[in-house]
Amino acid sequence: MLLATAASAQMSSGFDSNKAWEHLRQQVAIGPRPSGTPANVKNRDYIKAQMAALGIKVVEQPFEGATPLGPVKMVNLIATIPGKSADRIVLASHFDTKLFRDIRFVGASDGASSTAALIELGRVLKARKELPFTYELLFLDGEEAVIEWQGTDNTYGSRHYVQAAQKSGSIKSLRALILLDMIGDRQLTIRRELNSTRWLTDIVWATAAKLGHKQFMNEETTVEDDHIPFVKSGVPSLDIIDLDYPQWHTAQDTLDAVGARSLQIVGDVVVASLPQIEQRLLKN
Ligand SMILES: [Zn+2]
Repeated sequence: MLLATAASAQMSSGFDSNKAWEHLRQQVAIGPRPSGTPANVKNRDYIKAQMAALGIKVVEQPFEGATPLGPVKMVNLIATIPGKSADRIVLASHFDTKLFRDIRFVGASDGASSTAALIELGRVLKARKELPFTYELLFLDGEEAVIEWQGTDNTYGSRHYVQAAQKSGSIKSLRALILLDMIGDRQLTIRRELNSTRWLTDIVWATAAKLGHKQFMNEETTVEDDHIPFVKSGVPSLDIIDLDYPQWHTAQDTLDAVGARSLQIVGDVVVASLPQIEQRLLKN
């Protein structure tokens, strides 16, 4: 009994998928949440309330997205958990959902899953004693195209964030980015993403293998996502994404298609990878 308790405590990352699931469910309950809509503001308010409850400070980063449909008011949320060093590791997710006029799209995986995991990762990190680096939870608006993913009709929030960080100089203290996107799929399959930084991918995939999570596959793929502006500015970056999702951008991206177990797997892998990422950054 005692042994079993000790073993399970050791195995547990502290990430609680029951809590993450509730965050996912609450976002889906808001309905479609495209940038510039009252529902998007509601989603933002939900995230802010969760951060406040955890005692994590949030700053809003408002900007105007120049979309093919005209200017759209967007807001990134930057939540900070201070660490020993002001140098920071950023964990990110987009919280907007893609605009559709013909279907009701609630983005259970595409938008809600990664945002839910990010909120729960905030709780886990806040509870950790002595963070060697400052952690930033970056909730990005405007990832989705308002019409079609081409040119600059996408990644509005991440492009704005990186531009602002370059302007202020704060990009220099940004040591690594881990982006989560579409991690709710019940049939979770995550491939090594080739725009991502190799050493980050290696650490995370080795951690997943150690934990026995074969959902992190050794097959490779290439994805354009919110990590690209960071990659372009020289920040070591990793996109953890499951694009092998038949419900992607359909009315079926609902609670039925996603599972708490998938959130748990990704949460456990990320939490277990962070100390190794920190060690690697401390050596540089
Ligand atoms: Zn999408």
